[in-house]
Amino acid sequence: MHFTTLASGSSGNAILVGEDNRNLLVDCGISGKSLLHSLSLLNIADLEIEGIVVTHEHVDHIRGVGVLARKLKIPIYATAGLWEVMSPLLGKLEDNQRREVQQSFSCAGLDVLLYPTSHDSRESFGLKVSRPKCKDKRNLAVGIATDSGMITEEMHHHLKGCDAFVVEANYDEHMLKFGSYPEYLKKRIRGQYGHLENKQIAEGLVEWMTENTQRIILVHLSEENNTPEIALSTVMRILRNPNGSRDYLDVPVQVAPRHSPHDLIMLNEV
Ligand SMILES: [Zn+2]
Ligand SMILES: [Zn+2]
Repeated sequence: MHFTTLASGSSGNAILVGEDNRNLLVDCGISGKSLLHSLSLLNIADLEIEGIVVTHEHVDHIRGVGVLARKLKIPIYATAGLWEVMSPLLGKLEDNQRREVQQSFSCAGLDVLLYPTSHDSRESFGLKVSRPKCKDKRNLAVGIATDSGMITEEMHHHLKGCDAFVVEANYDEHMLKFGSYPEYLKKRIRGQYGHLENKQIAEGLVEWMTENTQRIILVHLSEENNTPEIALSTVMRILRNPNGSRDYLDVPVQVAPRHSPHDLIMLNEV
């Protein structure tokens, strides 16, 4: 099983999860053309993308969804509430491209579970994408959490024990506080329906990590209120001091590039 990010931040987000030559996309917040270019950089053929799952209707998550689905002739998976607000934004789709889903479904041979996050959109979801159980292979799962003002109960429940994490480290509280954003926007970002702060996500990760954890990618960093260096050092400091006996020193943590794909990460099978 593998995963990576194709774009990250308020200019557009997209995550890829797959196994062998079957993949699904989580959001496509960049243009269809940029997304296809990113896939070519990773040597992933258009035919290897089997669907797009949408986390919520904000433009940095759906900008290229309609175009890409038409171009690749693939289905889009979203909840009924999201379809209601997204439909006018996506353009013309074939009936079989509109997949209305509830909490769980399968795409590209993987099991996808949606859980609610806390964000100022019509509905918003994080995901757990797992390889279905099979007898001679370990069960692997990638936990995804972006665009949430807080760590929700459901996030705790579903992300605990995942083998890899793609999680939001949106802002540094100090940078936000002393930054140039107007007060109302600062309030929105740090509010219950805004975004996750570096320390907040690190504290979540400490709860969810186990001896199975292989990789962490930090995504959706604010350009104004965070830097890759601050996000990494804050998260690493907390992971290395989890106030207990566990030590996560050797789990690689990386920051997703804003405008280009991260290298494809292969999860260890054993
Ligand atoms: Zn959002
Ligand atoms: Zn976003």
